Amino acid sequence: MTEHVAVVGAGVFGAWTAHHLLQAGHAVTLIDAVGPAHNQASSGGESRLTRGAYGSDEIYTRMAMDSLPQWRALSAEAGLPLFHPCGVLFFFPGEESYLRDTLEVHRDLGLPSEVLSRSEMAARFPMFDFSEIEIGVFEPRFGALMARRAVQTLVERFVRAGGGYVQGLVETPGPAGARLAQVRLSSGEPISADRFVFALGPWLPRLFPDVVGSRIRVTRQEVFYFAPPAGDRSFEPAAMPCWADFNHGDMFYGCPDLEGRGVKFAHDRHGPEADPDTQDRRPSDAALNEIIAFRGRRFPGLLGAVLTAAEVCQYENSSNGDFLIDFHPRLDNVLLLGGGSGHGFKHGPEVGRYAAARLTGSITPEPRFSLATKGKTHHREVH
Ligand SMILES: Cc1cc2nc3c(=O)[nH]c(=O)nc-3n(C[C@H](O)[C@H](O)[C@H](O)COP(=O)(O)OP(=O)(O)OC[C@H]3O[C@@H](n4cnc5c(N)ncnc54)[C@H](O)[C@@H]3O)c2cc1C
Repeated sequence: MTEHVAVVGAGVFGAWTAHHLLQAGHAVTLIDAVGPAHNQASSGGESRLTRGAYGSDEIYTRMAMDSLPQWRALSAEAGLPLFHPCGVLFFFPGEESYLRDTLEVHRDLGLPSEVLSRSEMAARFPMFDFSEIEIGVFEPRFGALMARRAVQTLVERFVRAGGGYVQGLVETPGPAGARLAQVRLSSGEPISADRFVFALGPWLPRLFPDVVGSRIRVTRQEVFYFAPPAGDRSFEPAAMPCWADFNHGDMFYGCPDLEGRGVKFAHDRHGPEADPDTQDRRPSDAALNEIIAFRGRRFPGLLGAVLTAAEVCQYENSSNGDFLIDFHPRLDNVLLLGGGSGHGFKHGPEVGRYAAARLTGSITPEPRFSLATKGKTHHREVH
């Protein structure tokens, strides 16, 4: 049965959900306060890694794997690349359980990966200094997604395919019965629909303080880009993969010099709590100095490299890193979608497919995405 669905939030989760609902034959209106993957949204960064390494969390390896062809298809029809298949290298000081579990899941799913010794990594990727590293896993199929461009391309395609896009700030839905009939924009304009999806990223707790509230904790994250030495092509994606230094779970990660935008570095540790509207978007000296110290250890060829850009963003963390994709406990036509927890972007296509199917009741609910499993005490388990 064709229904009218309003999807609020045009980040990666909302955009892919709107796409899948439209493909399933529904009339879909996508609404965003500012625009798809805007500067303050979590999807608004330049690039995001996609990888299959998730330790024993097979569910996320599978989702990343199943999302990849959808990203590739979108990229193939876009004017500029959305996906750079430069591979991803995870490396470890020793044979940790995360590595063993990752390899087991890859084997079970038939996902190609190469286990490399330190000397093999050093020969193949000489731009890294692998001191204190023993082993790595290289995933040749994965790489970097051009995040902002990808979401904007997807929304443009959604509109071309007949989807509706409205720019406006949706106000907190007032007290309702068992169903929500309409939302209201701050301009006063009402938007009615049969069903609603709220994919609000770090703003989800704000619209649903009683239901979501502290179940999603928003933290400040900083990303830095450095210019490689002039004429040195070893930091380009043809030579250098995306990477993550597992560092006993306190991960640093980054991307090669994608499209000349600089070599990317970030620390995956949760920063202080942040408000997505008011947090100071100037990079901090503390975070920059930490990255420069790390860079000095791992990338001697970037010694003294000039900082060319920085992004201050936020993670919207669920209590353990699992996504939230579940119905509002009192409004049975409202799906809450979020908790990307610093690793959600790559899964956008499959999150959208699952959310669309969940909304229409055509999929068995995954307990890990339920509201009931989202605690208020935060202890990250998904890496
Ligand atoms: C620094 C950083 C690095 C990351 N690295 C990776 C990575 O390498 N790989 C990976 O897979 N993931 C990564 N992530 C995580 C990933 O980017 C997020 O999980 C994902 O982008 C979340 O998307 P979203 O659609 O839930 O939220 P958002 O992109 O924030 O979208 C929410 C949208 O809702 C809209 N909205 C909110 N309130 C309202 C309202 N009241 N009315 C109308 N619209 C509203 C906002 O304007 C916004 O556009 C990273 C995140 C950060 C911050």
